[in-house]
Amino acid sequence: MKIPEAEVRLFNRRFVCKKCKKVVRANPARIKTKDIVCPNCESRNFRKKNKEKRVAK
Ligand SMILES: [Zn+2]
Repeated sequence: MKIPEAEVRLFNRRFVCKKCKKVVRANPARIKTKDIVCPNCESRNFRKKNKEKRVAK
């Protein structure tokens, strides 16, 4: 069984590096303050990962 709220929470905490597209899990507040550095390319530019919600036809 799926719990939509849990899924939303999961997505809200996932960010994608704008440079190398690595997905990192982090606290949104820390992304904003640029505390999170991409482990791959050391970039600090992240975007929210929201688009990957499964689209049911
Ligand atoms: Zn990166």
